[in-house]
Amino acid sequence: MAPVTTKGPTVDRYDYICIGGGSGGVASSRRAASYGKKVALIEATPQLGGTCVNVGCVPKKIMWHAADLADRLHHAADGYHFMNVPSPKFLWATFKPQRDAYIRKLNGIYENNLDREHVEHHEGFARLTSPDSVEVTRSDGQKYTLHADHITVAVGGRPTIPAEEKIPGASLGIDSDGFFALEDQPRRVAIVGAGYIAVELAGVLNSLGSETHLIIRHDKVLRSFDITMQETLTPWMEHTGIRIHKNSNVVKVEGEKGKRLTVFTDKEGAIEVDCLIWAIGRHANTDDLGLEEMGIEVDKKGDVAVDDYQNSSVNGVYAIGDVQGKALLTPVAIAAGRRLSNRLFGPEKFKHDKISYENIPTVVFSHPPIGTVGLTEAEAIAVYGKDVKIYKSAFRSLYFSQIEEAHKEPTVFKLIVVGEEERIVGVHLLGQGSDEALQGFAVAVKMGARKQDFDDTIAIHPTSAEELVTMR
Ligand code: FAD
Ligand code: NDP
Repeated sequence: MAPVTTKGPTVDRYDYICIGGGSGGVASSRRAASYGKKVALIEATPQLGGTCVNVGCVPKKIMWHAADLADRLHHAADGYHFMNVPSPKFLWATFKPQRDAYIRKLNGIYENNLDREHVEHHEGFARLTSPDSVEVTRSDGQKYTLHADHITVAVGGRPTIPAEEKIPGASLGIDSDGFFALEDQPRRVAIVGAGYIAVELAGVLNSLGSETHLIIRHDKVLRSFDITMQETLTPWMEHTGIRIHKNSNVVKVEGEKGKRLTVFTDKEGAIEVDCLIWAIGRHANTDDLGLEEMGIEVDKKGDVAVDDYQNSSVNGVYAIGDVQGKALLTPVAIAAGRRLSNRLFGPEKFKHDKISYENIPTVVFSHPPIGTVGLTEAEAIAVYGKDVKIYKSAFRSLYFSQIEEAHKEPTVFKLIVVGEEERIVGVHLLGQGSDEALQGFAVAVKMGARKQDFDDTIAIHPTSAEELVTMR
């Protein structure tokens, strides 16, 4: 099917405009169009799908699978007595184009989906010029304006890199976008940061055989996660060979980008690598959008301030996804976008539709993965004090029974319950399969499950997940 291409507005006034063709914008515009509305979606880049499809979840998970396979090939030979298993050598240079081709295929699917649902796709940079008009600047410099009563800002965010004035040589490093552009596997790499991206990329590169350094400001990774997750994953990452430089800050970087770099920290001196990756957080794409001129409130960090219904401070302008700064996850952007369109254009029953930002399940694709929903132990104690009770189980999954001691991955599951009825307010899983196991338990938490409900559920044996319904 031929993609929709537009050279300008096709109507005087649209019902709805979405700025940004990522997870949130595409979902919201398609939902609005499904109600028969005339919708325009404006995307600045030639590719639809945004961060998740192009430089986020999808290529990241493919790389995680590659890394997971590398681990399993070792297990096959060493633990499970397979013969003729070659010592794995990952061919990054030939795998990367194959991965890219899959992403291009997804871009096409996104385009076709918009076309099928009659969402008009405008390629160009969008800027609000009034609360009901958006100026589109195409790559050839041509400009035109679209009008609508309802406009959603879904422009996402981008990686943060320290300023040169703060850290001389910082720009010699790359970010997660740059990671996905690497044509060859770096032999030695340093990653700065302690959040999702730093942990995930360090795990991938280490399992695929790069000498991996992780530079963190404190002494643990994932400090916003439950303490048990932090305390289990940090030493395990070190055990697998990742060199974690704790309580360290990069002060200077010298060398040649893409070749040889020396990363100086304030603690341990110099680290010699071929590639430096900054993974210290992201910030919203709100510059040059015309928000301030419109009086649309933006917080100190640059995120668009919204109420529970995704309304910005200006009537008829909304913000969804990463640009609103809460729970930067694809399913959150999608759910917020769909519910917003339900509320604006759907039947009466959806007139108050909105997403809840509570109990959002999330997975870190570390090695092993972490799955978590609800409150951490510290958060639960802050809210419920002495009413909090913890159930915890640490064990080795059966899969690792055949693997030599040094390579047995840890598994630790934790339930956080409150009150006499032992309502479950937090589930924290670390271990093989936690990524897949969490979704169902998140449903239970959302439904207000109690510990007794878990206990009343018959276990599935032999699995790791069965530990969650047999904890004492
Ligand atoms: P985006 O997907 O970023 O889309 C915004 C779009 O707006 C972009 O296409 C951009 O080009 C466009 N745009 C920006 N400014 C303009 C403008 N002025 N005019 C027109 N268009 C504009 N989340 C998960 O749930 N699971 C994961 O495993 C996961 N892994 C991730 C891994 C990495 C490395 C990264 C970086 C993120 C990951 N995320 C993951 C987060 C996820 O990608 C984001 O939460 C999600 O993409 C946000 O969707 P969005 O629609 O808000 O923004
Ligand atoms: P995060 O917010 O997860 O982590 C960034 C971390 O970097 C901070 O927590 C902080 O940890 C550290 N940091 C911040 N500033 C500095 C600094 N100046 N120097 C050194 N370290 C610093 O951001 P990410 O970029 O990793 O990811 C962005 C978001 O994308 C995530 O929050 C997540 O919502 C989403 N994402 C989701 C994924 C998934 O669902 N699996 C995967 C990847 C991203 P500390 O305070 O401990 O130093």
